[in-house]
Amino acid sequence: MNHLLAADETVYLGLGSNLADPAGNIQQALAALQQLPASHSLADSGLFLSKPMGPQDQPDYINAVVQFETRLRPLALLGALQQIEHTMGRVRERHWGPRLIDLDILLFGERIIEEQDLQVPQTGISEREFVLYPLARLNPELVIPGHGKLSALLAQCPENGLQFVGDIV
Ligand code: ADP
Ligand code: MG
Repeated sequence: MNHLLAADETVYLGLGSNLADPAGNIQQALAALQQLPASHSLADSGLFLSKPMGPQDQPDYINAVVQFETRLRPLALLGALQQIEHTMGRVRERHWGPRLIDLDILLFGERIIEEQDLQVPQTGISEREFVLYPLARLNPELVIPGHGKLSALLAQCPENGLQFVGDIV
């Protein structure tokens, strides 16, 4: 079965929403991620409230990070995430504009991927409070390929109003 990886790798995804019912959208996306093929042991960071990146004339965001084991290849995982975004009714408008659901691959095992459609670790990861703090709730010992220890990145990252708002039930 060469369309799957030979062994499980640990991936971290960033989830974000700031339209309709953001917490409900995150929950719905989580339910879809639990159905991914060749994947198991999903854990989540709980929900965080954050300020928008870029244009400020849009609602605050709800973010979460999820961690799971997968044998899906990186581009197959990206395709599956885009399918979930599409099924949930995401419409792409302006860059960094409001969205119903955004599913990004933050980390894929120890890999550094620099392809046209996929950069991992995700570009900007080391400065984003709404990614770093949720990651630390899942794994404070994490080392981010090309960026070093998560704990060191956190020490340099202002919270920018980020609030933990609760576990996902
Ligand atoms: P963004 O998440 O940057 O606000 P989109 O969700 O609209 O914007 O994604 C735009 C493109 O980003 C996608 O078509 C995808 O190919 C690309 N992309 C590059 N790296 C990643 C990644 N690590 N995770 C998700 N998408 C990525
Ligand atoms: Mg995205």
